[in-house]
Amino acid sequence: MDRQQAPDITVLGAGIIGISCAVQLQAKGLKVAVIDRVAPGDATSHGNAGVFAVCGCIPVATPGFLWTVPKLLLDPHGPLSLPAGYLPQLAGWGTRFALNTRMKRFEHISSALNPLLQNATELHLAQARMAGADAYAKASPYFYLYKDEAAFQNDKLAWQRRRHFGIEYDILRGDEIRQREASISPEFNYVVALKHHGFSPNPGKLVKALADHFVRQGGEFITGEVVKFNFRDNQPSEVVTDRGIYPLDKVVLAGGAWSAKLAAQLGHEVPLESERGYHIELPKPGIELATPIMFSAGKLVATPMENGIRFAGLVEFGGLKADPNYDFCDRLLHHAKTLFPGINTEDPIKWMGHRPSITDSLPVIGQCPRHANVYYAFGHQHMGLTMAPRTGRIISDLVTSGQSDIDLSPYRIDRF
Ligand SMILES: Cc1cc2nc3c(=O)[nH]c(=O)nc-3n(C[C@H](O)[C@H](O)[C@H](O)COP(=O)(O)OP(=O)(O)OC[C@H]3O[C@@H](n4cnc5c(N)ncnc54)[C@H](O)[C@@H]3O)c2cc1C
Repeated sequence: MDRQQAPDITVLGAGIIGISCAVQLQAKGLKVAVIDRVAPGDATSHGNAGVFAVCGCIPVATPGFLWTVPKLLLDPHGPLSLPAGYLPQLAGWGTRFALNTRMKRFEHISSALNPLLQNATELHLAQARMAGADAYAKASPYFYLYKDEAAFQNDKLAWQRRRHFGIEYDILRGDEIRQREASISPEFNYVVALKHHGFSPNPGKLVKALADHFVRQGGEFITGEVVKFNFRDNQPSEVVTDRGIYPLDKVVLAGGAWSAKLAAQLGHEVPLESERGYHIELPKPGIELATPIMFSAGKLVATPMENGIRFAGLVEFGGLKADPNYDFCDRLLHHAKTLFPGINTEDPIKWMGHRPSITDSLPVIGQCPRHANVYYAFGHQHMGLTMAPRTGRIISDLVTSGQSDIDLSPYRIDRF
């Protein structure tokens, strides 16, 4: 149904980023609509590992990462897949990504990621409480699991950087680990137990609960595929969907991995790529797990979920259109058994989603330099769940006061 009267602001995208923006804009008294082609939280925000990764300031593009790529690709249980057919499309993105592995860039990127991650747990708990969604956001430690201290030392640069930002942790060794999580294999004897972290036992339902609150408070959810903008006086004045045309006052683009096409219509080319990630969820694991665990060697996370244990990770470059390759999930199953020898892997549920990844691992957040009524909130790569309430706060501050409490220059859309 077409309408005459625009809400104060329209959010395009109902993932954790778009819905966090919507609830926080609404909390500041604005009339807000959200448009998505699927139900809130049904895309990438449904299947992530659920961790509020306050420690997530280390981008994949670390110095030295490129040297590890051949080994990662050849390892039959490795976390990376780069189908040959997709290489031509990835060449430009890959080159720019590679340039970001230089030490100076790494320092800049981690420094710019950190303010978006700080206090993420508190912000999530507060946002969930506001929406009556407390059951879907929990405070918890977060474990980084290593075989031994030597393996931990291989990640020295990352841990130095985290310490530099004041990220707090304890070290657990040997049996101390099994006292906390009895099911972890005795092969693993070194854990970094991060403090002030948290997780969602059902990240998809977290988004849905926030969206339900948003609608109860008078927000409008519109189903539709956004096709393009119409412009008046050099401003986007209408959004055209496959189901109708909606007038715009202000607009937030929060379309996750699908945002580049709409950003291009607004005059900005953004090097955004999907890092396809997978999970398996084991509904009858037969073991107990209380703490989310990053298994460093396999680069995957095991999280205690409402309906079992979820193992999430892997990076596959294959774009937005290709079907999921669920055989890739066998690698997650392999690691699940290595980590927890007693686990029951029957009836795994398999899922694939699109991490919205920009070549410098930083999101685009802020007001559009070309069109003053446009705001951007996309490209949160591996850390979108963690960064969502902070992003929502930044956007709501910008829209209502024109200001933010942090320097937004690293996230500008015209930085490329
Ligand atoms: C395996 C895996 C594990 C992860 N683990 C974690 C983790 O533990 N912690 C963490 O912080 N992050 C994690 N992430 C990353 C996190 O899931 C993402 O960064 C986050 O979900 C991105 O949220 P989003 O709202 O930007 O995107 P999405 O959830 O993908 O939402 C974007 C929405 O925009 C809509 N949309 C786009 N274009 C259009 C259009 N033209 N018309 C209509 N609708 C449109 C889509 O339908 C979609 O609903 C993980 C990701 C994966 C894949």
